[in-house]
Order: sequence, then C-alpha cells, then structure tokens
Amino acid sequence: MTAPTSPAPHVGHPIGVRDLPEGMLCCAYCGMPQPEGTPTTERLVLGRDVGLRIVDEAHELTFATCATCADRHALAAEIATQHPGFLALGSTSITADRLAAALDALAVVGATPATDAYLNSYPAARSLLERLGDLGALAVWSRAFSPIWQPKASMKTCASEPWLFVPSDLAAEIRRAIGEHVGDLRPPRPIPVPTESRWPGCAVCGIGTVSARRVSGAWKEVTTGAYAGGHVCAADARLLDALGTIGPTLLERSVCDLVDPDRMARRRRPHEPQLQGVTAFADLPREQRATGAATRWSQVDLDALTALLWHGQW
Ligand SMILES: [Zn+2]
Ligand SMILES: [Zn+2]
Repeated sequence: MTAPTSPAPHVGHPIGVRDLPEGMLCCAYCGMPQPEGTPTTERLVLGRDVGLRIVDEAHELTFATCATCADRHALAAEIATQHPGFLALGSTSITADRLAAALDALAVVGATPATDAYLNSYPAARSLLERLGDLGALAVWSRAFSPIWQPKASMKTCASEPWLFVPSDLAAEIRRAIGEHVGDLRPPRPIPVPTESRWPGCAVCGIGTVSARRVSGAWKEVTTGAYAGGHVCAADARLLDALGTIGPTLLERSVCDLVDPDRMARRRRPHEPQLQGVTAFADLPREQRATGAATRWSQVDLDALTALLWHGQW
C-alpha cells in the first residue's frame, strides 16, 4: 500500500543532519551552516575510522564558529579567569575549553546556564565543569571528525537544527548530569531521617536531621544485620561502605572522626583507641532514643573523649 500524499522520508542522513549548502561551513559546535566570513577554527584529524580499523590520516579541517557558540565560549573564558581554584586543574585556557564544552552540553538540551552562579561561585563553576565538560566535548559537531573521522561523518553535511544531531542517548545522559549539577547549585537544607526508618535518628550517631543538597545523599538505609531497617547519616554511611557492618570498630571510628577529623590526635600512637561504652543510638534505652538528636553523638561526652584522645593512655 502506498501513501502518495505524504512526502517521502529523507533517506541517507541521520536525524538532525542535512546537506551543507554550497559555499557554507559548519559551526564546529552546534553544526549549523555559516556563511563565508564567519570566524573559523581548525580541528586536527589523526585518522579515519573505516569500520574495522583506523587509517592514519593526519590533517586539519576547517569549521566555523557561529556567533551564538562564540558568545557561549566567551562566557566560559570569563568564568575560567574568575576562580583561582581552577589553576590546580591546569592552564586557564584548558579550563576555559572544558567550561566551554560544559556550556555546550547545556545548549544541547536547551538548558539555561546559571551565569551569575558560575561567575560568583567556584563550587558552582567547578560542578559545571566536572559534571558536564566531558559530555559536552562528546556532543559537538566536530567530534565526528576529530581526532578520528567517524565512518558516517561527511564534511558535505551540516545540522538541520542546532544540536539536533546529538544522539538521544547522549542527550539523555546530559539531562541526567544537569540534574546532578542543579542539585549542586541548591543551598543545603535540613533533611530529617526518613519517616519509615526504624529509629528517629541515625542508627549510629543519633542525629535526627542532616543538612544536605539532595535527599538521595542525606540518608542511607541499613539493609543487613541487626540494624536493618534503620538509616545512617552520610558520614556514617561512608564508614558503613568502608567497613561493611555496624560494629564496635565502626562506632569507635565514627565518634573519634567527629572529635578528631584529621586524625591528629590518633596519629600520635601506632594503634587505634579502645573505647569503653560507645553505644549506637539504636541500642540506647528506649527513653533516650524517643527523638533524633540535634547533633551527632550527643549520647557521648565528646569533651571527655577529646581529652582522652589527646592526653589519655590508650
Ligand atoms: Zn554554533
Ligand atoms: Zn550518623
């Protein structure tokens, strides 16, 4: 059966790709055709992927940089120079390139950059770079040609709409990463222990409400052992991941890490302290665990413990 009234589907190009009009160059990022006179950028091709192997083929290709992408990358350069913290990652130009790729990733899915936050907050800018820089670098148009020319990529094609050529699985990954990034930008907020938890506070240290940016990172359910069905705070969750079970070792480490976070006191001796009577919140008498505690390890005399670690014999 034929449907003569519907247009024939365009064959030969993947979604989001069309023939490049005569005399135009593609933007290296969004892939849109640009007229002559648009600023250009070179990309190094090291080889061509012919399906089964890579043929060495070193040369350069010329792409355009459209005004929209150029503006986005100027912002990246500005963000890179705002934060001395980035110097640890390498030169400012490397940072600017990675930030540019991260902003490209936002553009892929039409997300609005949090420009003020990136310019004023190093953690915000760092989150942008780390969560989205690599994904953005994978998404740009020129990636199909450099460093390795991919089998289906043709310099005679361009994007039919900005970024529409980005594969849907990569776009989905970018959306997920943006979700994480947006979580990083939120100020921490108080998150109480889940209501379904067996105890009204962390099963280990007893804190009832923690400060966190996202619910998922605030509490971890204990799934095995005597404390199954309870929850632990993020600090105790890290110890549980490392030690595997809530026992005397975890309890001692948890309370000692609280008063001696950099191990300065404990480093002075070759062995770990053996503490008497460190009781998990879950094991306190019922009346002492009627509500979650305002702070971690309120059931322990922390001043005495600090004195013991620094001055005591253990
Ligand atoms: Zn562009
Ligand atoms: Zn805890």
